[in-house]
Amino acid sequence: MRGAERRLHYASNYDAVTGLPNRDLLRDRLRQLKAQVQAQAGRRVLGFMLVRFGRMALIREALGPGAEQALLQEAAARLRAVGSQDMAASISEGAFALALLRTDADELAASARRVLAALGQPYRYQHDEFHLDPSVGIAIYPNDGVAYDTLARGAETALRQAADGVGQRYAFYRPELNRDANERFKLENALRRALERQELELHYQPQIAVDGKSIVSAEALLRWRHPERGLVPPSDFIPLAEESGLIVEMGEWVLHKVCCQLQAWRRAGLPVVPVAVNLSAHQFDERIVGTVRRVLDDCGLEPGLLELELTESASMADADKSIALLARLKGMGIRLAIDDFGTGYSNLNYLKRFPVDRLKLDRSFVRDLETDADDLAIARAVVAMAHGLRLSVVAEGVETAGQLALLADLGCDLVQGWLFSRAVPADQFAQLLATGRPLPAAA
Ligand code: C2E
Ligand code: CA
Ligand code: CA
Repeated sequence: MRGAERRLHYASNYDAVTGLPNRDLLRDRLRQLKAQVQAQAGRRVLGFMLVRFGRMALIREALGPGAEQALLQEAAARLRAVGSQDMAASISEGAFALALLRTDADELAASARRVLAALGQPYRYQHDEFHLDPSVGIAIYPNDGVAYDTLARGAETALRQAADGVGQRYAFYRPELNRDANERFKLENALRRALERQELELHYQPQIAVDGKSIVSAEALLRWRHPERGLVPPSDFIPLAEESGLIVEMGEWVLHKVCCQLQAWRRAGLPVVPVAVNLSAHQFDERIVGTVRRVLDDCGLEPGLLELELTESASMADADKSIALLARLKGMGIRLAIDDFGTGYSNLNYLKRFPVDRLKLDRSFVRDLETDADDLAIARAVVAMAHGLRLSVVAEGVETAGQLALLADLGCDLVQGWLFSRAVPADQFAQLLATGRPLPAAA
């Protein structure tokens, strides 16, 4: 996303072309509806309905993006009319999605037919009539998945099936549609075993004072040393761990490992610094308080050396609940940070009440800092706002001296990134701590 577009997205959460809610709002809506399904124990189902148009690419080719936008706007208006009690969203270019709470799959099918009937009518653009050829794919919570991404993928698979077929233009997700399912199953089993076989390890990435002179803290990042695949990055297995629920156990392992490692370093006489641990949204409930307390006790670590990073979207999803949980963690003496700041949408009224210590400015704003005036403006605003709320700011993904200079200029407090160090294995990080600052940019 370009800076200006992102600013708009950041400000409004509504799609610029259709005016419909965007993916983030839909994600939130799904979260609410899932809770309703859970509360009503099986008496409702939640459908994730994806809508795409077979002719859209053709129309854009022939008539240009203006025509496409006009037609999408008309389609959005029809969707709004047909599903007035359901949230319809623009989730990506040319794709709509709806979140539907119904009593059963038959009702979902009836809704799909209504949507198709409305969107299948001809469209007028300038003096011509067009058919857009809509198709619908549906995935059902909880049968087909729990996480947003799983449901979206399931609906996408179903939609492809519907678009390829003849006759009715909607399809429900069926696991056998998904050729990757088997692969995922294998990976999930391997991940389960990874915990037992001690294939997981932690790497540590230093967070440096913006003057480049000292390591102030660090972030622990999970790695999976797979016997055949080698080092697997977290982006390849964390989502799976989240879907399968393994993340809770895995996250507890991470907490334990970090706290006991810190305590071991300290016993060895190293000048330790606080270390941040990433918390998945799935870990962020009542249980986390007890888990953290137990882990600290177990390792004999003082709470001030542990920091927890929570993403903006996880913490804002149910802000009142988050505030209460964060307050309890804070009360134990743990440090707290909001991760990936700027990528979700923050309610500043809530942020003001969050008992956190730090904001982490997302890497996507740092990357083009030297060339994109919008990103620079956003970074400046985040730093000013954070300081206004007495929070410190860590910039993520700092790779160049130019970015560092700009961040220093903005008054950013800490930087983390490859300019100084990648995430390194524990023994290497211990050496960094021991020798003080063998950091290229500070040399
Ligand atoms: P994150 O929390 O935003 O972590 C920062 C990511 O940026 C890390 O990727 C880090 O290696 C990378 N990075 C740091 N400096 C630079 C830089 O200068 N340039 C670039 N291009 N990248 C940089 P990594 O280690 O692959 O982690 C990815 C994500 O996986 C993390 O994003 C975090 O969301 C998740 N994750 C990692 N470890 C854990 C964990 O223990 N628990 C949970 N729940 N999630 C984790
Ligand atoms: Ca993080
Ligand atoms: Ca981050």
